Amino acid sequence: MTLLDLFFPPRCVVCDRPLTYRESGVCKTCAESLHKIRDPRCMKCGKELSKERDVFCKDCTDHAHRFESCRALFLYDDAMKKSIYRFKYDGRKEYAAYYAKALSEELGDWIRSVRPDALIPIPLHPNRLKKRGYNQAELIAGKLSALVNVPVKTDVLIRQADTKRQKELNLSARENNLKKAFKTSENDVKLDTALLVDDIYTTGATIDAAAACLKGAGVSRVYALTLSIGRNT
Ligand SMILES: [Zn+2]
Ligand SMILES: [Zn+2]
Repeated sequence: MTLLDLFFPPRCVVCDRPLTYRESGVCKTCAESLHKIRDPRCMKCGKELSKERDVFCKDCTDHAHRFESCRALFLYDDAMKKSIYRFKYDGRKEYAAYYAKALSEELGDWIRSVRPDALIPIPLHPNRLKKRGYNQAELIAGKLSALVNVPVKTDVLIRQADTKRQKELNLSARENNLKKAFKTSENDVKLDTALLVDDIYTTGATIDAAAACLKGAGVSRVYALTLSIGRNT
């Protein structure tokens, strides 16, 4: 403990209450109540499944995805929603250290098993990056890189500036719009296996678009890792 910690005690990443000197990252209560994704999980997107005999979630049964597979650490429930909100919009950049540590502890074996050549954080729309000042996915990937010994590449995938606001579009227009959302910095990306990193997996559309873009530039396999994921509906 430092003197600074005494006056400004670190706060719980999840509930934002000050931590005791015995706690780090999250408080005891949150550590016990956080919903980590467990098996059985969808072999494609990584969502938790309720039936042991199921292999894919409903969404992955109905839709083909462009990535090989995705794994997520936490269920995107109310507690996680608040934590990620503070991380993204309240400048709590320090959360990245806890998130990355938890990701490497819980999913390190999976990360090693896919043998990624690089971690690629999902880039932010340039206007949004300017407004927010940082890319949350890049912060997580940066901290994770040292823990799993895989370099981060932030110059490979580029978010195009001209995407319309997703909220104003219907589903097919949204997908079309997303297809144009990414480009690569070079026509020929010299990576065999890429691991995309993001904070939330919702429909998978963003990760699909990024994966399709990388594959179009010659990347053979694209996996994804997200901090949180929604429920199987
Ligand atoms: Zn807490
Ligand atoms: Zn799935």
